[in-house]
Amino acid sequence: MPKHIKTDIAIIGGGIMGSAAAYFLARSGQAGTICVIEPDSSYQFATTPQGAGGVRQQFSVAENIQMSRFSLEFYKSFNDQLADIPDLPDINFTEQGYLFLVTKDGEETLRRNQSLQASLGVKADLIDYDEVRRRFPSIERDDIVLGCHTPDDGWIDPNAGLWGFRRAAEHLGVHYVKGRVTDIHSDSTKVHSLVLDSGETVEATFFINTAGPWVAPLAKMTGAELPVVPMCRVQHFWKCAHDLEPMPLVKDESGMFFRPEGDGFAGGRPTFDIAPGFVDDIYSGFFANYFEDTIWPMMAALVPKFEDLKLQRSWAGHYAQNTLDGNMIIGKYSAAHDNIITACGFSGHGIMHAPAVGRALSELALTGTYQTIDLSRLEIARVHTNTPLPEVGIK
Ligand SMILES: Cc1cc2nc3c(=O)[nH]c(=O)nc-3n(C[C@H](O)[C@H](O)[C@H](O)COP(=O)(O)OP(=O)(O)OC[C@H]3O[C@@H](n4cnc5c(N)ncnc54)[C@H](O)[C@@H]3O)c2cc1C
Repeated sequence: MPKHIKTDIAIIGGGIMGSAAAYFLARSGQAGTICVIEPDSSYQFATTPQGAGGVRQQFSVAENIQMSRFSLEFYKSFNDQLADIPDLPDINFTEQGYLFLVTKDGEETLRRNQSLQASLGVKADLIDYDEVRRRFPSIERDDIVLGCHTPDDGWIDPNAGLWGFRRAAEHLGVHYVKGRVTDIHSDSTKVHSLVLDSGETVEATFFINTAGPWVAPLAKMTGAELPVVPMCRVQHFWKCAHDLEPMPLVKDESGMFFRPEGDGFAGGRPTFDIAPGFVDDIYSGFFANYFEDTIWPMMAALVPKFEDLKLQRSWAGHYAQNTLDGNMIIGKYSAAHDNIITACGFSGHGIMHAPAVGRALSELALTGTYQTIDLSRLEIARVHTNTPLPEVGIK
């Protein structure tokens, strides 16, 4: 007989988002029993371990800045806050800053965004090209007119972040069930249970769909639509023959970015020249020679020392891309059902926002409203009314 599990809250997908939500729910002491359904504890195909781990406060949408501020502080004290969790991995927060660089075309927007960030308490320095070069002499591209440097930002090890949340949640009593949700049973007002590929069923009173790039097909199982698709993003790790000064995570208007990683550098550039979907093989098709033909010349044009680099490896990850505006969708999403919520469509910001979003999901599940940062502008209503809330400037 397949097992039947009964729980108060069931979370679909135990990546960084589902695990952060589980942690904050369990930490509240008010959530009852919590189950996370996750098919793959190696997280081989999940987005989180493939991410660059960047945590930054440079955004144009106020809620994104507010979420980053909470998350940044959370990550900075992660190892202390969770010190009592056995086998807690070190998320290795590296406080080396972020540097956004723009040409004349992007100057006005960068100034506007910096002003909003500063008004929300972010230390964000607007610096002209000479100052960029003074702080980071390896950068040399004379169409750059302005930079915005946020020295308090940095990056974490994303896989350790995921496992940190997961271990903390498990320590607080959250049960991870190995399985893939293949069907969802609901009636005209409530979701009742999940069916797993093993035949097991999970009955709950409240559900959270945090299945990353797989979120939309799961939403369809209760008749709901989410405009979220998988987008392949390829990253690269290279070593450089020359030393560079300690670099922040550097990003320009094209979306090209790099940061130090171990004894080399990690980076890449998102492209929308490919169709949405999962890409299995990055060594044929669109991404064949992508580094040599596209990424390397761009990197070397920004940092001449990168003329002498050696590519070590490339890998693919898949963003959950919100096709409306590239920002997340949070909260209720199924018109008929008020006991299922989501946080999805992070389009490249999910690691840095996981602490804030995990906390927000916990607030919604426990009280039905936001208790800390008001994220209602990021709910599904903007999809139904076709009013995008995109990031303006560097995304
Ligand atoms: C190349 C790249 C670089 C990035 N860089 C950054 C960065 O610098 N900073 C940043 O903040 N973000 C970055 N991101 C984005 C970030 O990685 C994601 O936003 C974040 O990891 C999303 O977490 P998640 O938990 O929503 O999704 P996932 O990690 O994908 O987790 C979803 C989970 O759902 C599970 N699942 C799927 N289907 C089912 C099912 N049917 N039943 C049950 N479970 C299911 C999956 O197994 C998976 O474990 C980057 C992403 C990529 C690809």
